[in-house]
Amino acid sequence: MPELPEVETVRRGLQPAMEGARFARVELRRRDLRWPLPKDFARRLQGKTVTGLGRRAKYLLADLSSGDVLLMHLGMSGSFHVFQQVSEKALGRYYHERAQHGAHDHVVFHMSTGAIVTFNDPRRFGSMKLVARAKLDAEPLLKNLGPEPLGNAFDAAMLAKACKGKKTSLKAALLDQRVVAGLGNIYVCEALHRARLSPKRIAATIAAKTGAPNERAERLVEAIKAVLNAAIKDGGSSLRDHKLTDGELGMFQHNFRVYDREGEKCRTPGCGGTVKRIVQSGRSTFYCPVCQK
Ligand SMILES: [Zn+2]
Repeated sequence: MPELPEVETVRRGLQPAMEGARFARVELRRRDLRWPLPKDFARRLQGKTVTGLGRRAKYLLADLSSGDVLLMHLGMSGSFHVFQQVSEKALGRYYHERAQHGAHDHVVFHMSTGAIVTFNDPRRFGSMKLVARAKLDAEPLLKNLGPEPLGNAFDAAMLAKACKGKKTSLKAALLDQRVVAGLGNIYVCEALHRARLSPKRIAATIAAKTGAPNERAERLVEAIKAVLNAAIKDGGSSLRDHKLTDGELGMFQHNFRVYDREGEKCRTPGCGGTVKRIVQSGRSTFYCPVCQK
C-alpha cells in the first residue's frame, strides 16, 4: 500500500507530464473506482490546464484553471503510468503494449503535451474527486487531517501536545491521521525503530504532564522526518530507473530496517537483537525488543 513517500514520488513523476499541460481528452474506462466518479468528470477536466500539482497527506491535488481541484488517491493498489509521445511510432507501440495488459487501466488522461497518463488500480480502492478550490478547507476527506510530517509546523512540541494524556500505544497514536497525516504501518514501524522507542509504549510518555515534549518526542520527530526523507530520496532514484522502463509510478524497493524482517538481525549497530513481529489493532508491527524501549 503506497504511503506518503510513494505518493510524493508519484507527484514528482507526474509533475513534468501534467503541470502546465491541458487535459486534451479524458477517457473513463469505468464509471467508478472506490466511489462513483462525478457524472460530469470528463467534461469538467477537458480543456482545463493543470496550474499546479501538490500533495496533502496521501492525496494528490491538481489545481485546474477552472478553479476546481482534482483530488486523487492511490488506495491499496493504484499506480500511474506516464507515456511520453516521442514519435507517432513510439506512441503506437507503447500504447498497444499497455492496452494488452491494461485490464485495470481505469482512467486515461491525454495531455496537450502528448503525454498519456494512465491510472491503473486492480483492487479499486483508489479514488478521484473534483472539489472547488474555495471549498477545499471544508472537504471531508481532508479537513480532519493532522499536520504534514515534513512540514515545519510539525515538531516535538506539536507531537507531544497531540499525545498528551493518550493511553493508546505510540504505534496507534502515529497511525491516527489526526495526530500526524500520511503515516502508515511501514513508516511508523521504521520511525519507531530509528527513535529506539517501543511501539507498545504508551503515547502519553513522550510528553510531560503539562504537554511539553520530552527527549523521546524530540527523537521521534527527528526519526519520522529522517525515515520519510530517506524514502523520498529512494523514490527519486526509482523514478530515474522507471523512466528507462515503462513509466510506472507506484511502489519501489526500500531497505527497511525492521519492516517485514521478522526473525532477522536488528540493523542497529551493536544491538544484536532479533526483529520480532506482533499484532497491534489487527496489523503487524515489526520491532526490536532489545534496542526499542
Ligand atoms: Zn535492536
